[in-house]
Amino acid sequence: MQFKQSQALFTQAQKHLVGGVNSPVRAFQSVGGTPIFIKKGLGSKIYDADGNEYVDFVQAYGPLILGHGNDYVCQQVSHSLLDGFAFGATNEKEIQLAEIICRAFHLDKIRFVNSGTEAVLSAVRLARAFTGKNKIIKFAGCYHGHDDALLVSAGSGLATFSLPGSKGVPQDAVKNTLIAHYNDLASVEKLVEQHKDIAAILIEPIAGNMGVVLPETSFIQGLQKIAQEHQILIIVDEVMTGFRSKFGGAQDLIHLKADITTFGKIIGGGFPVGAYGARAEIMQMVAPLGGMYQAGTLSGNPVSMSAGIATLSELARENPYAKFSAQGEFLENAFLTSAKKYHVPLQVNRFGSMLTPFFCAEPVTNFESAQKADTEKFKVFFWAMMEQGIFLPPSQFEAWFLSSVMDEEDMQKTAKAIDYALAQVAKMQGTNHDNA
Ligand SMILES: *Cc1c(COP(=O)(O)O)cnc(C)c1O
Repeated sequence: MQFKQSQALFTQAQKHLVGGVNSPVRAFQSVGGTPIFIKKGLGSKIYDADGNEYVDFVQAYGPLILGHGNDYVCQQVSHSLLDGFAFGATNEKEIQLAEIICRAFHLDKIRFVNSGTEAVLSAVRLARAFTGKNKIIKFAGCYHGHDDALLVSAGSGLATFSLPGSKGVPQDAVKNTLIAHYNDLASVEKLVEQHKDIAAILIEPIAGNMGVVLPETSFIQGLQKIAQEHQILIIVDEVMTGFRSKFGGAQDLIHLKADITTFGKIIGGGFPVGAYGARAEIMQMVAPLGGMYQAGTLSGNPVSMSAGIATLSELARENPYAKFSAQGEFLENAFLTSAKKYHVPLQVNRFGSMLTPFFCAEPVTNFESAQKADTEKFKVFFWAMMEQGIFLPPSQFEAWFLSSVMDEEDMQKTAKAIDYALAQVAKMQGTNHDNA
C-alpha cells in the first residue's frame, strides 16, 4: 500500500495548517507515520489521495451513522442550499428538527448551537443559572469539548486536583471543576460531602472518549440518588451517544434521568451542529425567556437543520439498531477468537454501534484501567489494519463506529483484517503460535 500522495499533501498542509490538521487526533501522533488525506467517502468506504480504499470505522468520529453520501441526505441538503444558507431569522426547519429530537428524548425545549463544545459549555452555564451554584463534577477520561473549564487534567495521580489539562487554561477557569472516577460512586460521594456548591454532575452515559467504557447499573442508580438528595442537576452528554444505540438517548438504555441533555454529531448528519435541551422549567432560564445569555450567528442554519432532519428521518426509517448489535457482536467474536489464537491479551468493550478493543488483560471500567492498555501494540495493530483496508481511529482511546450501510462483506473483510493484524501484534510480543 502506497501513501505517496498523502505524504506530499501532508508536507504541503503543514505550511499553513497547524501540524497539518484542524483537530489534533487527525495528525496520527499516537500511531506515528503520515496521516492519510481523504479524497472521497461513499457508503461504508473512504478513499485516500493515493486511491486506497478503506472500510471506514471513524465515520467522522460519529456523525455519519448512515455512512457517506446518503442519497436522501444529499438531496435534502442540496434543495436547502438553493433556498439560501443562513438568515439570522428563524426558519421552519428549526421547528422540525426540534420536534424530532424533543420527542425522541422526552424534552420540552431545545436550543441549537454549532458544535458539541458549545452545547456542553452552554449546558453547564444553564445548570449554574438554574441552581445558583458554581461547581461541577466531571469524570476522569470523559471528554466534553474544549471549553476551558472542561479541559481538566484527567491524568492518574493528579486527577483529584483540578489542574488544567491544556496550556493557556488559567487555574481560575478550572477551580470549579471537580474530578470523580467513572464507575466509582465513592469518589462522587466524597466530593459531594466536601463541597456544598455543586450545580451539576456531567457525564457521558456510555463513555466513548477514553475508548468505550460502560457504566455499571449500581453506579448510575447511585448517581441519580446523590443528585436528587443534594439538588444537583445531571447533565447527560449525548453528543456522541445520541441516536447511536437507539432512536433516542443512551440515557434511556441505562435508565439515567437527565436534567439537561447535550447533543451534536448525528443530529447534524455531518454538518456543524450542537444542541442542549431540558424540561421547560430549566430552559426558561435561557435568553430571551430568561437571564442566561447564549447566542450564535449561524445557530439553527437551514443547511445543518436539513442535514439533521434528513439524517434522523432516514435513521428512523432504516432502524438499524438490531443490525448494529449483531455486527458489534460479530466483531467482538472475531477479536476474541483471534486474540485467543495468537495469545494477545485483549478486552473488547462495546455498546450498540460503538466498540473499542483494548490491548490489556484486565477489564476496562474507567480511565485508570483504560490507561493500562498497551499503545505500542495498538500502533502495530492500527497499521496492519490500514494495510488490510480498514480505517479506524488512530488512537487506542477512541470508539469505533458502525454505520448503517456496512454489510456482510465489510464485516467479513474486517474480521479477516483483525486476524491478520492480531497475528502481527503477536509477532511483536513474541507469541505467534498460529496452531495454538
Ligand atoms: C465530540 C464530543 C464533544 C465535542 O463536540 P464537538 O462538536 O467536537 O465540539 C462533546 N462531548 C462528547 C461526549 C463528544 O463525544
